Amino acid sequence: MAPAKIVIIGGGFAGVECARYLERCLRPEEAFIQLVSPDAGLLYLPLLPQVASGTLNPRSVSVPLRRLLRRTEVVPGMAVGVEPGTRRVVVRRTRTSGRETALEYDQLVLAPGSITRIMDVPGLQEHGFGMKTLAEAMYLRDHVLRQLDIAAVRGGLDEDQERLNFVTIGAGYAGTETAAVLNKVCRAAAGRFFPEVESGMVRWHLVTRGDRIMPELGDKLGAEAKRILAERGIELITGASAAEVTANGVKLTNGRFIPSRTVLWTAGVAPSPLAAHLGAETDKGRIIAQADLSVPGLPGVWAMGDAAAVPDTAEGDGQVCAPTAQHAMRQGRHLGKNLVATLRGETPAPYRHPDLGMVVDLGGRDALARPLGVGLRGVPAQFVARGYHLMALRTIVARARVAFDWAVHGLAGDDFLRIGYADHKVHTIGGFEQSGCYLPADEVPRVVKELGDPE
Ligand SMILES: Cc1cc2nc3c(=O)[nH]c(=O)nc-3n(C[C@H](O)[C@H](O)[C@H](O)COP(=O)(O)OP(=O)(O)OC[C@H]3O[C@@H](n4cnc5c(N)ncnc54)[C@H](O)[C@@H]3O)c2cc1C
Repeated sequence: MAPAKIVIIGGGFAGVECARYLERCLRPEEAFIQLVSPDAGLLYLPLLPQVASGTLNPRSVSVPLRRLLRRTEVVPGMAVGVEPGTRRVVVRRTRTSGRETALEYDQLVLAPGSITRIMDVPGLQEHGFGMKTLAEAMYLRDHVLRQLDIAAVRGGLDEDQERLNFVTIGAGYAGTETAAVLNKVCRAAAGRFFPEVESGMVRWHLVTRGDRIMPELGDKLGAEAKRILAERGIELITGASAAEVTANGVKLTNGRFIPSRTVLWTAGVAPSPLAAHLGAETDKGRIIAQADLSVPGLPGVWAMGDAAAVPDTAEGDGQVCAPTAQHAMRQGRHLGKNLVATLRGETPAPYRHPDLGMVVDLGGRDALARPLGVGLRGVPAQFVARGYHLMALRTIVARARVAFDWAVHGLAGDDFLRIGYADHKVHTIGGFEQSGCYLPADEVPRVVKELGDPE
C-alpha cells in the first residue's frame, strides 16, 4: 500500500513536535510527511521579548528545522488555500514570485498559530507594531532606540515627548513582557547614552481591556506583576483598547489620546483564512477542534496549538486550552499519537494535559513563576524560568547559544546598538505576518485546477 500523505501546516511548536513524533513512530513505507513553513527555523516565541531587549541574539531563538527534522520534507512557503474536496493544499513558495504549488494530503494538520486581528482598528495596519516574528522583534528594538537617539539630539520639543511615549495594547505575556523589558532598556539607555533625555521623560503605557495582566498567573502573582511594573514607572491603563492609531499617537476607547510613535499591538486574534476555505467553525479566532484534535465534519483534518480551540478536558466546565507553548508542544505530540492510531485502524484518544504552571521574565531579576501551582518571584523564579526555557529548546546547540547570550549580557550589559532596520524598511503588522497572502475562498478551486496534479 502507498504511504499515507500527511501535510502539516505550520513549523511552530505544535507542528514540529507532531512531525518529530511521526518520524519516530511511523516507517517511511507507512507515511510521507510534509511540513509547510515560511520560516527555516522553529521560532521560540516566549524568548522574543528578550531579542527585542537585546539580551539574546536573534539566531539563538530560532532552531533550524533541518536540525530538528530528519525525513520530513520541509516545504518553504505559506499555505494560502485548502480544498477539502480534492484534498489539496495550495502553497505560495515566496512572497515576491507568487509561484504556487499544490500538495495532496490524506491527513491534514493545521498548526499555523494565531493571526493578529488588525482590521478593526483604523490606522493599526499602517502605524502599529507587532511582536510575532523575529524580524518584528529586531525592528521594534531598532525603532525604540532610534526614538531615543533622535530625542537626545533635538531636546525639549513636543515631538520628543511623542517619541518618548511608548504604548503597548494587550497585557498577555507578549505585551507585558515586551513592555517590561523594553522600558528597562529605555531607562538604562537614557541614563548611560543619552543624558539629554531624562529617564522621567520615557513613559511606557500598558493598555488592557480587562483589569488583570497575564490572567494565567493567578491573582497573587498577577498583583505582584502589577507592582513591579508600577515601580518601574509603567502606567497600566485598564478597561480600554485602541480605537484609532495615527502616525502621532493612539486614541483609546476611553477617549484618551496618547501622543506616541510606538504603538505595539499584541491584542486580539483573527481566524485563519484557511478555516473559511475548509468551512470550519471558529471560536474567538480559533478553529473549533474536538478533544481528539480532529476538526468536526472534516474527515482527515486536524487542528491544534494557538490556531485551535481544543476542549480543556483537565479543567472541564466547557473551557478551552489556553494558547500557550506548553499546550502547543503537548498537543503536537498527542496528535502524532492520534495520527499513528488512525493509520493503524485504532481509535484516537482525547487530549488531556493539566496545566503545569507558567514562567514570566520581566527583565533583570524580576521574574515570576508558578511551577505546579507554587508561586515564586525574584531570583528563584528567574532560575525556574531560565531552566524551563533551556529544557524546552529542542537542541543542545540552541541551549548553548541562549545560555552563552545570557552570560555575556549578564556580564557586559546592553550595548544599545541599532542595526539600522528602522531607517530603511516600511513595516506593517500584516506584512510581517503575511496575513494578506491568502487566496479568497471562492478562488481556491480554480487555482487548484490550474495547478493540476501535485509535483
Ligand atoms: C512574544 C510572545 C511571547 C510569548 N510568551 C509565552 C510564554 O512565556 N509562555 C507560553 O506558554 N507561551 C508564550 N507565548 C505563546 C506561545 O508562543 C504560543 O502559544 C505558541 O507559540 C503556539 O504554538 P503554535 O505551534 O500553535 O504556533 P506558533 O509557534 O505561532 O507557530 C506557527 C507557525 O506556523 C507558521 N504559519 C502561519 N501561517 C502559516 C501558513 N498559512 N502556512 C504555513 N505556515 C504558517 C508560522 O510562521 C509559525 O512558524 C508567547 C507568544 C508571543 C508572541
